[in-house]
Amino acid sequence: MSYQDLVKYMNKRQALNGALTLFEWDQETTAPHKSIDKTTTYIGVLSKELFETITDENVIKLLHELENEDLTLSQKSVVKHWLKDIERLEQIPADEYQAHSELLIKAQHVWSEAKLTNNYQAFEPYLKQIFENEKRFASYRQVDHKPLYDILLDDYEPGFTTKELDAFFEQLRNEIVPLLKAIQQSNYKIDKSYNYKEYPIVKQKLFNKYIAQYIGFDYNCGIIKESEHPFTTNLHNCDVRITTHYYKNNLESALFSTIHESGHATYELNIANDLSLTPIGTGTSMGMHESQSRFYENMIGKNPLFWKNLYPKLQNVFLNNLEDISFDRFMDGINKVEPILIRTEADELTYPLHIMIRYEIEKKIFHEDIDYDELPRLWNEKYQEYLGITPKSDSEGILQDIHWASGSIAYFPSYAIGSAVAAQIYAYMKEHTHLESWIENGQFNMIKAYLGEHIHQYGAIYNTNELLIKLTGEAFNPKYYITYLKDKYIKIYHLKR
Ligand code: ZN
Repeated sequence: MSYQDLVKYMNKRQALNGALTLFEWDQETTAPHKSIDKTTTYIGVLSKELFETITDENVIKLLHELENEDLTLSQKSVVKHWLKDIERLEQIPADEYQAHSELLIKAQHVWSEAKLTNNYQAFEPYLKQIFENEKRFASYRQVDHKPLYDILLDDYEPGFTTKELDAFFEQLRNEIVPLLKAIQQSNYKIDKSYNYKEYPIVKQKLFNKYIAQYIGFDYNCGIIKESEHPFTTNLHNCDVRITTHYYKNNLESALFSTIHESGHATYELNIANDLSLTPIGTGTSMGMHESQSRFYENMIGKNPLFWKNLYPKLQNVFLNNLEDISFDRFMDGINKVEPILIRTEADELTYPLHIMIRYEIEKKIFHEDIDYDELPRLWNEKYQEYLGITPKSDSEGILQDIHWASGSIAYFPSYAIGSAVAAQIYAYMKEHTHLESWIENGQFNMIKAYLGEHIHQYGAIYNTNELLIKLTGEAFNPKYYITYLKDKYIKIYHLKR
């Protein structure tokens, strides 16, 4: 038996996975809206086939044999990841797995109806069942009394634990919550009414296409379409697809979505060729992926150096709306802090506080005996405490995100980890490369090559901490993120230190 034998199974696994990815892409962008009921049958067949390919008895035997063979680094990593996938899939009894999958499909329908009609009570039994199932599934995989929440966390962010996250969120609570209060009390007010004037979508599309290319999106191996919620997906390193969503009365929304998704795309486009058609030929974790999108969206996209050349071009395209808006006013506008209830529309400073609230609630559900009736109140109290605002309804409160209904528990922290990792990489690159002159001069090929060399090419061979140590000599350290946010917003809002 040799690695070549595994390649046959791997090609099948990747092809099935690719087909499922295409169905998903098609549903989000092109398929007629009533098609899903019947198309689900096809998706079900392919998913079952994929599950059987991954956990095939012959594959398991082969993988264990290969563990002792002399393999290359990437081959070793494929074997290791594949065995981990099997462990995750096989520890849950098939009938429980099946029942849970059906529960999730139902729960998402109930959730969207409940959100529409502001009816938490309707969703509560599903929420409870999902969390209880996830707790039980985690308990099947528990070793050495590892906290159950940590087991799920490790699926999204390998190597991270509640211990690290508690320390991270404590810093946010101690430093960023007071900073937000100071901003809310400051006399410096930012008027960004210009952003909500009418911006013709045809013109927005052209400018977004241009800006994606400007920061390195490769149209030979990439495509941009539209969907309700922007996202990135890929088949391999030469088929990477992003979407954006245009609003006639909001210039920023599509602009920063495009930059964000282009960051995700750059990661996937830069994966090494010998990994591309393997299960590890993709970003290493949710958090690392999000770090790359936010590096482009926030650290670069909201940086005055970036807009120095680009703002006059943007002004020219939308002369009616932007002619009288100065560069400084535009920079203030895109960095304005405004606590709102909806996570996905939050500004850069308040965003991690939305995540902190979800993290605290998930942990409470996992490790304390909590009454699910109490969750909406708990949610609202935390919004008041950290952001100074209270949801008027559960639709804009506990019901706002689809994550829990779709079984994604312990997923939220990845978003905040991503922002912090981005700040850590930025601080390092600022010190050790010509990053800021690259940004100012639009030399995005240099940025893309640097991130490619140190992070992207490795796919999922190394985890987040291993990559950070390789690049910066230091593991995850939220200090850089806190410093970045404080320096930035103290300056913008003319606050005293
Ligand atoms: Zn993202």
